Amino acid sequence: MKIAILEGDGIGPEVMREALKVLDIVEKKTKVESEKNFGYIGGEAYDRFGTPFPEETKKICRNADAVLLGCVGGPKWDALPPESKPEIGGLLALRKFLNLYANLRPIKIYDSLKSLSPLKESKISNIDLITVRELSYGIYYGKPKGIDNEKGFDTMIYDKETVERIARVAFEIAKNRRKMVTSVDKANVLRSSMYWRSIVTKISKDYPDVLLNHMYVDNAAMQLIINPSQFDVILTTNMFGDILSDESAALVGSLGMLPSASLGNTNLYEPAGGSAPDIAGKNIANPIAQILSLAMMLELSFDMIDAARKIESAVEFVIKEGYRTRDLPGNPSKILSTSQMGDVICKKLEDIW
Ligand code: NAD
Repeated sequence: MKIAILEGDGIGPEVMREALKVLDIVEKKTKVESEKNFGYIGGEAYDRFGTPFPEETKKICRNADAVLLGCVGGPKWDALPPESKPEIGGLLALRKFLNLYANLRPIKIYDSLKSLSPLKESKISNIDLITVRELSYGIYYGKPKGIDNEKGFDTMIYDKETVERIARVAFEIAKNRRKMVTSVDKANVLRSSMYWRSIVTKISKDYPDVLLNHMYVDNAAMQLIINPSQFDVILTTNMFGDILSDESAALVGSLGMLPSASLGNTNLYEPAGGSAPDIAGKNIANPIAQILSLAMMLELSFDMIDAARKIESAVEFVIKEGYRTRDLPGNPSKILSTSQMGDVICKKLEDIW
């Protein structure tokens, strides 16, 4: 396993440290060793090298089987020109560099954290969904786009190859879950969505065991609040996925628990949240999203499904036993620091292995 480790800014190095402790245990137990190469990205990279995505980091990523990222950005770098900003010159450039085309964001509700959700418990009891967002095309990249004194404009475009590829990702994932795909579009108005819908329907014929239904994005936004348990796999475009995946993240109530994976030439794994400058450097951030991103990496890039499940179980046990970081409600006597939370998860992982 050749892994590029990009800690990034803010809480990135703190939460990455805990994920790497967990990886150490996996290596010890499975006797599978990893080669870890550390690179700078984002604001830290800009401060050291004058660019948020230095050549050395590109080299490390090019040679890696998978990239594990912390997070980038912070107020210190907000005023930089766009190409130097951590988010644009760093993260977006990295995504493009790796040719990432699918973003996977699983959402799971832990029984003992139900009170965190802004929804009533009765609404959220069975939430277990994953958003499959097209990441490489659509309105964010379609041309022409521009801005002048009279107007600003973007182009929403989808071609056959792009839709087929992302649809297959969603159906393959659904095969191993509850076998339902909800394709979200705006086919009552947008030509690109009409085309999207026709291709998704065509691809669905190759997956007779998976139930496909189509939903307009405005309705999907509403259904996620009214009845989120109805969803298994949500398949959608770049912009709709951007919005809906954050809405579904809000159902859980804490960003600190949510991992994500992006598939491409080399896959990228990162927490759903940002660099949390308000708590950075205090050893109080929740490392679970980073640890679960590691689990996704082991499963999807290295086929270490058993190790991934064990990490997820360790996290679940620890939460069930009442251990918390400060972003999660619970018994004050069980509030842990970032590193203590990493330690109890490691201990639990060793116990259940
Ligand atoms: P954020 O996700 O960093 O923080 C939002 C809130 O969630 C904050 O109160 C923060 O303390 C909390 N939070 C996030 N992760 C947490 C964790 N692991 N443990 C405990 N609490 C956690 O979003 P923001 O404040 O809008 O952005 C801060 C910076 O992060 C900005 O510079 C933004 O551009 C950047 N950002 C980066 C990414 C990324 O690297 N993928 C994503 C989003 C935002």
